[in-house]
Parts: sequence; C-alpha cells; structure tokens
Amino acid sequence: MAVPEFLSRAELIKQGAEARVYRAEFLGKPAIVKERFPKRYRHPVLDEKLTHRRTVQEVRSILRCRRAGISTPAVYFVDYTTHCIFLEEVVGSLTVRDHIAATQKSGCCTGPELEQLAKRIGQILAKMHDEDVIHGDLTTSNMLLRHGQGDGESDLVLIDFGLSYNSALPEDKGVDLYVLEKAFLSTHPNTESLFEKLLKSYTVSSKKSSAVIKKLDEVRLRGRKRSMVG
Ligand code: AMP
Repeated sequence: MAVPEFLSRAELIKQGAEARVYRAEFLGKPAIVKERFPKRYRHPVLDEKLTHRRTVQEVRSILRCRRAGISTPAVYFVDYTTHCIFLEEVVGSLTVRDHIAATQKSGCCTGPELEQLAKRIGQILAKMHDEDVIHGDLTTSNMLLRHGQGDGESDLVLIDFGLSYNSALPEDKGVDLYVLEKAFLSTHPNTESLFEKLLKSYTVSSKKSSAVIKKLDEVRLRGRKRSMVG
C-alpha cells in the first residue's frame, strides 16, 4: 500500500506547524507516523532539501540514542519521498508532564518519588549529551514513562527529535538544558528544587558537565538581562 493511502486510514493525533502525527498499525504493530508536509511559502527545491535534512537528522538522533542505550521509540520504516517516519508507539505510556502534575495533585509521596524521577532524567540527558546529541525541544511532554512489567521500574523514553542535531559544543548543550529549565518551571509550579536535583544528577553523570553548566549559567544570565531590559 502506498504511504498516502496508508495515512488516509490512520488516526490523526496531532496537526503541527511542521508535521502531522498519526496513530496506525504497521505490520501488525502499534505505530506512530510523523509526516513532514511541504511548506507552500518556501521555494519547492529548498523546502524539499530542508525537509529531507530534518527527517534524516531526526532518524539519526534516535538511532544514535538507541545505540547508546537511551530509550527512544524504535524506527520501523522511513519514507524519504513522503518524508514519513514510522515509529514504535510507546503503548500505555504517560508523559512526564502528566505524571508530575498527577503526583503533585495527589500530594502523595511527592518528594522522594519525583526526586528519583528528576535524578533519572538528569542521568539520561547526560548520556545523550555525552553522545553529542542535542534534542532541541526538551520539555516534560517529550518524555514518556512506560510502566514496567510487574513491579519493575518504569522506563523513561525520549521522543520528538524533530529539532535535534549533533554538536559537541558546551554552549549547545547548555541551551538545551536552559530550554528544559524554562519549560519545566513554567509547566510545573514550585519545582525549583526538583529541577536543581535534575541538574545535580546531570552534573555527576556527564563526563563534560562542568563546561555545560558554566554555559547554562551564562545563558541564564543573558536571559535575565534580556527580561530586565524588556
Ligand atoms: P510529537 O510531535 O512527536 O511530540 O508527538 C505528538 C504527541 O504524540 C506526543 O506528545 C505524544 O503524546 C504522542 N507520541 C509521539 N510519539 C509517540 C510514541 N512513539 N509513542 C507514543 N506516543 C507518542
């Protein structure tokens, strides 16, 4: 079956500015399909080139993370003609955003449980940055918790590498953390100390963290100066 026909039968779950996300079954497996569509305002040749590059980069980052042992959805199939990536659907998962919100609301064992989660996020991001993968859009919505079998610990899965790229520069890693900090603190009120736990865990887990944290501090300072001027 051709990809457009396949997508016409799939369930659209998100219509973004750059891509559409569908839920479908691919070779008998629950799948998520991310389709980058043409941007009419761009020159078609340039658009094709950019879209192709982004699709390649997204797949490359996912594979790089998976090779390093970081949980990301498996890539089932890529169609470079329609710019579609077919990914494993992380079935029965919950976003970290929803998990934190629900835990805070319940008030039950908020401290130790969320601190453990923050620690785990810090470790995973340290590993990702040590592989020189910059996610580009770190938020708690782009992290899924897949509940473990039996009483096993749940697995943390990173998703949406659509803005990712490769870089060894501490500045790029610092900005990646800054984007997460901004998103984290605005989404989850009163979590400053929780985010500090995440950064502490990142610091002890990454081989190159001191230069990254230094850059993060510089970016924070620039952000503060800008908001004072504005
Ligand atoms: P995205 O544009 O990649 O962030 O995807 C939009 C939404 O689809 C996410 O916020 C998730 O709720 C869901 N989603 C994306 N990828 C997956 C996946 N591999 N498994 C399960 N849900 C996903």
